[in-house]
Amino acid sequence: MTNTNVPESATAPGEPVKPDKALIFELSRPGRVAYSLPACDVPEERLSALIPEALLRQTPAQLPEVYEVDVVRHYTELSRRNFGVDNGFYPLGSCTMKYNPKINEDAARLGGFANLHPYQPEESLQGALELLHTLQNDLAALTGMDRVTLQPAAGAHGEWTGLMMIRAYHESRGERRTKVIVPDSSHGTNPASATVAGFETVTVPSDARGLVDLGALRAAVGTDTAALMLTNPNTLGLFEEQIAEIARIVHEAGGLLYYDGANSNAIMGIARPGDMGFDVVHLNLHKTMSTPHGGGGPGAGPVGVKRALIPFLPKPTVGRRDDGTYYFDYDRPSSIGRVKAYYGNFGILVRAYTYIRTYGPEGLRHVSECAVLNANYMMHRLSSHYEVPYPGVCKHEFVLSGRGLKPYGVRTLDVAKRLLDFGYHPPTVYFPLNVEECIMIEPTETESKETLDGFIDAMIRIAEEARLTPDVVLNAPYGTAVRRLDEATAARKPVLNCSCG
Ligand SMILES: *Cc1c(COP(=O)(O)O)cnc(C)c1O
Repeated sequence: MTNTNVPESATAPGEPVKPDKALIFELSRPGRVAYSLPACDVPEERLSALIPEALLRQTPAQLPEVYEVDVVRHYTELSRRNFGVDNGFYPLGSCTMKYNPKINEDAARLGGFANLHPYQPEESLQGALELLHTLQNDLAALTGMDRVTLQPAAGAHGEWTGLMMIRAYHESRGERRTKVIVPDSSHGTNPASATVAGFETVTVPSDARGLVDLGALRAAVGTDTAALMLTNPNTLGLFEEQIAEIARIVHEAGGLLYYDGANSNAIMGIARPGDMGFDVVHLNLHKTMSTPHGGGGPGAGPVGVKRALIPFLPKPTVGRRDDGTYYFDYDRPSSIGRVKAYYGNFGILVRAYTYIRTYGPEGLRHVSECAVLNANYMMHRLSSHYEVPYPGVCKHEFVLSGRGLKPYGVRTLDVAKRLLDFGYHPPTVYFPLNVEECIMIEPTETESKETLDGFIDAMIRIAEEARLTPDVVLNAPYGTAVRRLDEATAARKPVLNCSCG
């Protein structure tokens, strides 16, 4: 078969790897400088008097001696080794790597926002406070919650914040509830946040359809249940159809429902966690609201709560007085306290506000409809080449299994590595844990049909290669700066300095 969308460059796997550009230390020549300043007219003794003897450097720093242009090329070359949504398709399941519209960046860079100082008096912050207040209300409306805090700096931080509020809620009622229930498909941060918040986690299995097993849930809940953490659609991209019953089971046992809304791309303007029975929800603005992420931040993980939990929100909250002015409300005696310095990652909040306001309610609904359509289109086209463990309609993402390639000695990891040669960031692999050889794909709404087809064709071609010429897949990638890494050692014992010379 012919795959017309596969880029030509990927057709010759044996091609020599591009020669590496010289490293900056190799370019170093004694005495070469990037720029020079006029001679200092302050006497040397006066300068050294300013710095304690012990802090003065005895030998010059081991820095490369290069021209300015070498430095610029060095860092530009390094930056080109990065992969981001601005240079290619990035269908990372459970991570919503959607395009970040540049108008969001323009808004965040407006002087009135970018130059704010955290210690400015409230009267001079009214515009920023109004933005925060409006964003809180927008997110509350979108999730079906009564109040929102914008302080948490990431999804996991939002989870922890939500769980601390759940803890405070139970304690305020004189109840000691120690367990948080999570399904086996849950994101790893869920049990981690529960543990850090002082709870014990209980895992409930999924049933054959990939949904929460109600029998197992009934057996797990009790007077010690603090909360159930769930995401819907779940991490397999499937909608928990029994959500009303799940909510009833947990609430009847006196527990609360926590919604992991990190990836809300399937439900915006269509369904709301608050209406499904959830009491607490966090959103990842750096996923769903298109603010940039990757490389560790900054992000934002706002948390919304139902009325009964409002007293426990982190302080300060942003309030609005009857006269229309805005203020930081520190008068919150039951608050769990401050969870972030100042007030959250403000620049990210401006981007999310801009995103929501440029789309409006109808636009956000359209975003979700397209995200779901794209995922179903991809799943359908790939279903004759890869196993689909949970067939049917998916939401914004879906999982495949690479199990069928195992007889040829090819694993899911090899498929992921080979995709790099076609210019794609691989999808999430080996997650969720309850699917063997899992490949988890989330195309998002921001990609054209041509891009989706190109990726699908590459995936199909790799499945063919795996059967006919497995070595080609097993030795991939061919065109990257480095080939296969020992990823565990790289993460645990990173070598971050240049060891040449
Ligand atoms: C990304 C993600 C998180 C964690 O968010 P961070 O901002 O990385 O802390 C939590 N749950 C789900 C389902 C996610 O996809």
